[in-house]
Amino acid sequence: MQNRSNTRKAVLVTGGSRGIGRAIAVALADPNRTVFVNYRSGQEAAEQTCEEIRAAGGQGQAIAADVADQEAVAGMFSQIRDSGCWVHTLVNNAGIAKDTLVAMMSQQSWRDVLSTNLDGSFYCARAAIPTMIARKAGQIVNVASVSALRAQVGQVNYSAAKAGMVAMTRGLSRELGRYGIRVNAVAPGFIETEMLVEMRANPRGQALLEQARDERIPLARFGTAQEVGQTVAFLCSSAASYVTGHVLVVDGGLSV
Ligand code: NDP
Repeated sequence: MQNRSNTRKAVLVTGGSRGIGRAIAVALADPNRTVFVNYRSGQEAAEQTCEEIRAAGGQGQAIAADVADQEAVAGMFSQIRDSGCWVHTLVNNAGIAKDTLVAMMSQQSWRDVLSTNLDGSFYCARAAIPTMIARKAGQIVNVASVSALRAQVGQVNYSAAKAGMVAMTRGLSRELGRYGIRVNAVAPGFIETEMLVEMRANPRGQALLEQARDERIPLARFGTAQEVGQTVAFLCSSAASYVTGHVLVVDGGLSV
């Protein structure tokens, strides 16, 4: 057990090795706080995120764990504690999509998407919360999706997982508000990352993307990871000190 007086506030961004997670980790760079950059398999990419955090004037440390594995999550939090830090800011960003129509969806696809997005967020929140409560401080941001709010064909597993994260955000904000802990979510629309590259690999996904951009997104373009990173940084800042239980949509107007 760490002595409370010598532990330092830290940030943990799950799935911080690339895409939106990397942009969030860099946006949260702070000379006084280590940003732990969680990844599952992309160690080199996570080290690159740490480089970018250092270039932005902060401190970054890569940390491996499959968030869908509760033992691995417990191990990650022990490592953070052993380094003399406690997680003051948790960003549950790690996520995967496995899009397909329900009639063709395997049990494995359903489980994988639920396990990484929803179970993973729960395991990390559960591991972080006791120290936040003891210190009466802390904040959590869950990276959900507009798919939680507006259904998309072929994303029943993903929509269910992200809607679960939205409900979890609201429930946690009620449970934790009395300790001064804020819990919010962002719901990005289409953001240019490897996730979109994967969608484009499937002709139906490609058609969906083009149609969304040309007909359904008022800003008529996809978003950037940095635009989501800045939104998360706002929710984590003192400018949002009276915001909790909120789902901030970052989608260029897609869901209007
Ligand atoms: P990417 O596929 O680009 O990156 C996913 C990240 O999550 C990687 O760092 C990956 O690490 C990590 N990851 C995946 N599975 C696990 C796991 N089991 N344990 C730990 N880390 C894991 O995704 P995006 O940046 O596009 O998406 C980030 C989040 O934003 C996701 O939650 C996604 O659902 C959400 N989102 C994305 C949108 C988009 O249009 N791109 C739209 C709406 C929401 P590694 O490489 O090591 O596996």
